[in-house]
Amino acid sequence: MLNKLSNTIYYLSNQDDKDRPTLGLVCGDQYSLVIDSGNSTQHAKDFLQEIEKLNVPPVKYVVLTHAHWDHFLGMNEFDATVIVNSQTNEMIKEWRSYSYDDRSLQNYVDNNQMSAMCMKIIQTDMPNRNSFKMKSPDVIFDNTLTIDLGNKICILERIKSTHTNDSTIIYIPDENVVFLGDSAYGTTTNSLFHYKQSLLLPMIKDIQKHDAEMFLLGHESICDRNEMNIYWKELTAASQVVKSTSLENALELFKVDNNRDPNDNEFFFIKAFVNDHIIQSQ
Ligand SMILES: [Zn+2]
Repeated sequence: MLNKLSNTIYYLSNQDDKDRPTLGLVCGDQYSLVIDSGNSTQHAKDFLQEIEKLNVPPVKYVVLTHAHWDHFLGMNEFDATVIVNSQTNEMIKEWRSYSYDDRSLQNYVDNNQMSAMCMKIIQTDMPNRNSFKMKSPDVIFDNTLTIDLGNKICILERIKSTHTNDSTIIYIPDENVVFLGDSAYGTTTNSLFHYKQSLLLPMIKDIQKHDAEMFLLGHESICDRNEMNIYWKELTAASQVVKSTSLENALELFKVDNNRDPNDNEFFFIKAFVNDHIIQSQ
């Protein structure tokens, strides 16, 4: 079932056991717009089936928030204009060249081009894929694009992100809602989980430029402004004390700066920023 955020905004909750991210739906008077196309044809079909029950204007646009497979592999299921930023378009090209038969999939996994989890999802939720080819996006923008769905403006914006270099957020001004995709998360490089430290403050600035009250995240579903502010505060406090690859120094500095030990979240973030220094130094 879709969650109803307002009269014009709905979302399908993320489902962690199947690696399914949050999918969004924004409805204007004329058209509807979908945010992320799902991690497989089955995920997309499940979403479309729920949309059909709502009696909303037809889905004319699909926006992909970034080029991670779990957000775009269901793309072919939508009879709609697919919109990406130029960096996402570049990154998706590799996946458009892929074949999706079992042998090819196993090859990609063996060559670290694809995770084992991704292969498993494809094998389970994308039947009839021996001749499957991902279609190409239809509209490519550089920095920002505004879409009017009929008395419903959506602002698409490429932002700086600690997660990927190709993050698009979707802001709906008259509802004060923003879809963040995975932009506010960290990422894993060479088995190390890290947040790109140099991009943390620029990212927060890019997101806070909009006066959002509700935030939809790729693998959490929904956060209100207060929850988001706590997240930014903890991330920022953690980042401020990490100046090298030393976890010990960072923890000491945190105590000096804050007169207390970090909480569990802050400790997790401090480690992730230390990992970022380790990756930068490699
Ligand atoms: Zn992602």
